[in-house]
Amino acid sequence: MKQKLSIVAVCAVFFLAVGGTTVVRALQPDKAAQDALTADSVLKDLKEGNKRYQEAKNSDLEIEARRKAAQGGQFPKAYVLSCVDSRVPVETVFDQSIGDIFVGRVAGNVENEDQMGSMEYAAAVAGIKLIVVMGHEACGAVKGACDDVKLGNLSALLQKIRPAVRSVDGYKSKDSKDKDFVVSVIKNNVKKTVSDLRERSEVLAGLEEEGKIKIVGAYYSLKDGSVTFLD
Ligand SMILES: [Zn+2]
Repeated sequence: MKQKLSIVAVCAVFFLAVGGTTVVRALQPDKAAQDALTADSVLKDLKEGNKRYQEAKNSDLEIEARRKAAQGGQFPKAYVLSCVDSRVPVETVFDQSIGDIFVGRVAGNVENEDQMGSMEYAAAVAGIKLIVVMGHEACGAVKGACDDVKLGNLSALLQKIRPAVRSVDGYKSKDSKDKDFVVSVIKNNVKKTVSDLRERSEVLAGLEEEGKIKIVGAYYSLKDGSVTFLD
């Protein structure tokens, strides 16, 4: 019995050392560290961070030390275009901290000139390797677009999502009451934003063609916190 217990204890220590939650990384990436990254390695990094988040094992954010270390400049790895929804805390979802990622947010994660300009800066000047357009489950902006809601300045924003609403077929009632329909529109809206970025930004399309960046779409589940990357 005693021997059994000690075997269990050894296994537990091994698990903590090998499969545990501690992620050791530099307080701030520098130029050399950023240069060594690729779009695929950044994608892997974000996927691993999201796995830690799903398991409620986020790293220590080291806020004070990171804030101090970041004063000299930034060498981030990705740009995430997300909806403004309060249930989608982007840095937390990918287990990232100060200096790690750019985050652009607008209801319905649609692209516009200002977002594209910000991405072009992030990619061509600040050296990021990956752009992620991330939609999320039960998006209120997408639901509003499904129902063709009119409200002040929001009306014009929702019109940018309407093409994604129209492009989804196979549903009887195209409104927000049909959850499956809404999910299809959310994913279509992400894919459309990704293709619009390539079409409307020569800078981003050029960098992607040169293999310097990748632009990908993703879907965030409110239920389990998972991020699924879309083809
Ligand atoms: Zn939303």
